Amino acid sequence: MASFRAPRGTRDLLPDERAVFDRLQRIAAGLTQRYGYRSIETPLFEQAAVFERGIGEVTDVVEKELFRIAPRSEEAESWALRPEPTAGIVRAYVQHGMQTLPQPVKLTTTGPMFRYDRPQAGRYRQFWQFDVEAIGDPGPAIDAEIIELGHRFYTEAGVAGVEVLVNSIGDPACRPAYIAALVAYYRGHADVLPPTERDRLERNALRLLDSKDPAMTELNAAAPRITDHLCEACAAHFASVKAHLEALGVPFRVEPGLVRGLDYYTRTAFEFYVAGREGQQQALGGGGRYDGLVELLGGKPTPGIGFGLGLDRVALVLVEQGHAGVPADGPLAVVAGADPEDTVARLRVATDLRAAGLRVRADLGRRKLGRQLEAAGKDGAHFAVILGDELADGHVQLRDLLAGTQRVVGVDDLARELARAEQHHKHG
Ligand code: AMP
Repeated sequence: MASFRAPRGTRDLLPDERAVFDRLQRIAAGLTQRYGYRSIETPLFEQAAVFERGIGEVTDVVEKELFRIAPRSEEAESWALRPEPTAGIVRAYVQHGMQTLPQPVKLTTTGPMFRYDRPQAGRYRQFWQFDVEAIGDPGPAIDAEIIELGHRFYTEAGVAGVEVLVNSIGDPACRPAYIAALVAYYRGHADVLPPTERDRLERNALRLLDSKDPAMTELNAAAPRITDHLCEACAAHFASVKAHLEALGVPFRVEPGLVRGLDYYTRTAFEFYVAGREGQQQALGGGGRYDGLVELLGGKPTPGIGFGLGLDRVALVLVEQGHAGVPADGPLAVVAGADPEDTVARLRVATDLRAAGLRVRADLGRRKLGRQLEAAGKDGAHFAVILGDELADGHVQLRDLLAGTQRVVGVDDLARELARAEQHHKHG
């Protein structure tokens, strides 16, 4: 027999870990609601051109990591699984005429992304992102608002020591002159440039700055800095983002080498790290301003900013920092019965309790009462509802498994009794 496994670079989120993701998603949903974001879902795949245009041809994400879907012969289009959510959301913004809505349009989504990456710890081919996008506001105040929202997500999730790195990567007014300076600098060191970087230099010199090649570390440390080449408008924008962050008390550090891997960013770029882990190329999340993207994807010139926070890495860091993180989700009560064959009665009582909103398991195994109660204890249930002869005149035994006590309760009062006990247990 063949033995099947999840594809390389993917993993199953088993219930314990899924519960951690559920919790992170609830935190994300609560925060985005408070900050005025509305949920959106876009397809997990798009026309490949949405990513090629929207992310840029000379990026790792498009050059090497795009999961392309082979089209059937009768379909002319070529598709790809989404490597990040921004391009698809902006495509939807343009397609549905959202520029006629009050601006900014604030959208959020959480779900799986796909990159044909080399798998390693914290780097998967399918991973989850919590994403927000605010389209139609040039900033700078909203830049700080979004960065603060990202930082708060980590705080509420319980990740300790998250630091924000920020930079400005200029705009079409000032970036060309900076890139010319950068190209001249790297050409002056062509003899030490690894071949892949030499090739990139002529096509997208900015990318050399966030190269993962160790041979580039020293060279990049001495490279010209974009923050020394910003035009007046970009410099004022960046100064204001920093002033807003300070006013909000968000801890941040300016990192001139932070350029982000995607082409469409302008001005503000930021990443979140756990202090001390920067060297591992393991950003917890990142984002930036993309004032050129809406136009690139066929809309009117419209500014925008957003972030994508990786949930897999948050879950990893929570474990590293010693949070077991599994919320208790055992049943409040298990319905057991003296007659092993009478699954109808057990299921009927459990169904009524569930309809009343209670977390209840019916023991549907045809085994002796003693065994049923043992299993209820292992489940972590607080109560066992025991059906016996008294059921004929509308009564059951209610056993408190934690206290070891038992009493007779009317079937009609059962839901109310259990709800009250649960309230008491939660708050007592
Ligand atoms: P990026 O758009 O590359 O900056 O990604 C944003 C965030 O998504 C990163 O900071 C990571 O937390 C997460 N992420 C990106 N790529 C991967 C991957 N291959 N596996 C797991 N998480 C990832």
